[in-house]
Amino acid sequence: MTERLSDDDERRIAENIEAIRGRMARAALRAGRKPEDIELMAVTKTMPAAAANAALRAGVRLIGENRVQELCSKLPELELDGGEVMPGAKVHLIGHLQTNKIGQVLGHIDMLESVDSAHLARELSRRAVAEGCVLDVLMEINIGGEDSKTGIKKEAAPALACEISQLPGLRLRGLMAVPPFDPDKEKIRPFFAQMKHLFIDIRAEKTDNRDMNILSMGMSSDFETAIEEGSTLVRIGTAIFGERIRRLEQ
Ligand SMILES: *Cc1c(COP(=O)(O)O)cnc(C)c1O
Repeated sequence: MTERLSDDDERRIAENIEAIRGRMARAALRAGRKPEDIELMAVTKTMPAAAANAALRAGVRLIGENRVQELCSKLPELELDGGEVMPGAKVHLIGHLQTNKIGQVLGHIDMLESVDSAHLARELSRRAVAEGCVLDVLMEINIGGEDSKTGIKKEAAPALACEISQLPGLRLRGLMAVPPFDPDKEKIRPFFAQMKHLFIDIRAEKTDNRDMNILSMGMSSDFETAIEEGSTLVRIGTAIFGERIRRLEQ
């Protein structure tokens, strides 16, 4: 058994999650959407496994990590199938994956949200076929066209979607993005709207190996705007667990 957090910390995390769920539901209703159509991921990077387990106990069913090494060291401690309390919790890798680390995550994650090149897609396919599994993936879009960010340009997305559709062992489930940060959420809104359009366009092309229903966008500072613009999965770290210690970030 992993150590537990203090009762106070457990309670604080549970309260944060409840408050976020309330804000998610209100954002959904404002946009004429059903609250249950939007999933909450707890992003646990830099946090101990005990914090992730507190989120699971508070009802979160999806954990996100952005670095392979950290994911692999935490996985054995996560209470993902702890019986009746938290059946079927899932783990997504949300950060850049180098091809030489595919073997470390394949079979251990439920989804890779950050496919950002044809090269990575082909290698994932090859490995998945060799291991007899099918990996759910999202394409990561660099929607702001920022040099500092990973993800493919939006212009390149339809072609990569087409390529992924032809690769066995992969199933394209949707798109993910981290738009440029701006304290003014109205400046971020157009990027979320562009993502929704791209999502609709790519989903409209009916091809094999696709079951496109996930639009992963929205973080602690902008998840309500993302939901108003069509997000189906918000990835929240800071608003659940508090500030991360900077030096632990990549
Ligand atoms: C860290 C991270 C998040 C969560 O960010 P917060 O602002 O702490 O909510 C979401 N998505 C990705 C890809 C991340 O790396």
